[in-house]
Amino acid sequence: MARDLASVWHPFTQHALWAGDDPLVIDRAEGVWLYDSDGARYLDGVSSLWVTVHGHREPAINEAIRAQLDRLDHATFLGLTHEPGIALAEALLAGAPSGLSRVFYAGDGASAVEAALKMAFQFAAQRGESRPLFLSVAEGYHGDTLGAVSVGGIGLFSDTYRPILLETRQIPSPGVGDGSPSQRAAASCAALAQVMEREGERVCAVIVEPMVQAAAGMLTHSADFLRGARRCAAAAGALLIADEVATGFGRTGRMWAVEHAEVAPDLLTCGKGLTGGYLPLSAVLATEEVYEAFLGSPSTGRTFFHGHTYTANPLACAAALANLTLMTERGTVARAAALGEQLAALLAPLAAEVSEIRRIGTMTGIDLGSHDPDRRVGARVCRVARDRGVWVRPLGDVVVLMPPLAIHDDELELLVDTVRDAVRQVRAEGAG
Ligand SMILES: *Cc1c(COP(=O)(O)O)cnc(C)c1O
Repeated sequence: MARDLASVWHPFTQHALWAGDDPLVIDRAEGVWLYDSDGARYLDGVSSLWVTVHGHREPAINEAIRAQLDRLDHATFLGLTHEPGIALAEALLAGAPSGLSRVFYAGDGASAVEAALKMAFQFAAQRGESRPLFLSVAEGYHGDTLGAVSVGGIGLFSDTYRPILLETRQIPSPGVGDGSPSQRAAASCAALAQVMEREGERVCAVIVEPMVQAAAGMLTHSADFLRGARRCAAAAGALLIADEVATGFGRTGRMWAVEHAEVAPDLLTCGKGLTGGYLPLSAVLATEEVYEAFLGSPSTGRTFFHGHTYTANPLACAAALANLTLMTERGTVARAAALGEQLAALLAPLAAEVSEIRRIGTMTGIDLGSHDPDRRVGARVCRVARDRGVWVRPLGDVVVLMPPLAIHDDELELLVDTVRDAVRQVRAEGAG
């Protein structure tokens, strides 16, 4: 830790507190367990920030990466291609929402979002339309690069950068406010329609987190919102971008969250669980219509001048391919849906003791209510859980549960029991 404190700057971390929080040094992992440098183990209750699918060091994924390592470590995807990149694209499209037929690789979730935003703008431009505006949703989160922050709706993460961000129009979140979920969805859709009426011909894309605004604290909403957004975007000639970076690969109990609404987006971004939690890889899935707008002779300038040095890294593609194969073989999506129901039952006794419990599939937020940030109520609950062998990380005063989809029943019970006891202990200490 002394060496960490002397040289490292961590993401989303207040370093004035970091040393005092007695951080863990993680040494190894297996299944749903993380082991620290003292040999103590912690149940990975947030799938290592929402990525782990089949567990840590899953033998089949380890083996796929090793086999790839012995064949091809890396080759550029700019002007070359390779089997893992091709096979993964085929596998992704085989299970994709209808209409999506092309895969563009990126590295992290934010870089997939960045690519999707640029694609949407350029798509319109190449059809002779000037559409410089993005339409986004309050409380949304799409990553931390400037384009992604521009369409983000969490003030704490974006307000500082406002002077250097893209121009957007923001509608109210369907996940907060008065009324029933369907009333909120209707209100958000009405706001969306209003913006489109005024300046719809200048909007190139509407970007949404389908079914749940995860980083805002697992704010779930009605599928009506997605259906409304789909209609409104199409009517205005704008694209619908479904950001499935958090929700993709079974987390909501379906392969893709848009399936809950039977909505097909024009662009879909995915990342996080794509490699099963092993390596940074993300992708934009696009329709043939979008793809074809980029075809032309070199002089037309229609090329998508966008890419990263490590685009479609073969090791990451091999991990992702193994992950998708295992998901099919093991029926992981159905298992995730069942896990979600188990979570609901296990959490039911806690519901009356907290402000709200929100959940879709296995994505769960236990909202402890609003507190002074300096009291760090969410962080204190997580610290009590950590001392009892469960690792969870809060979003403010929302404690998140996002177990690996391969978690066993007894491990799930341990996760929920421990977090429930931790909530009760912190409340008893007078913070809840
Ligand atoms: C996490 C997340 C991102 C950003 O992904 P990174 O890999 O952290 O860049 C984008 N969109 C959503 C919905 C996310 O949850």
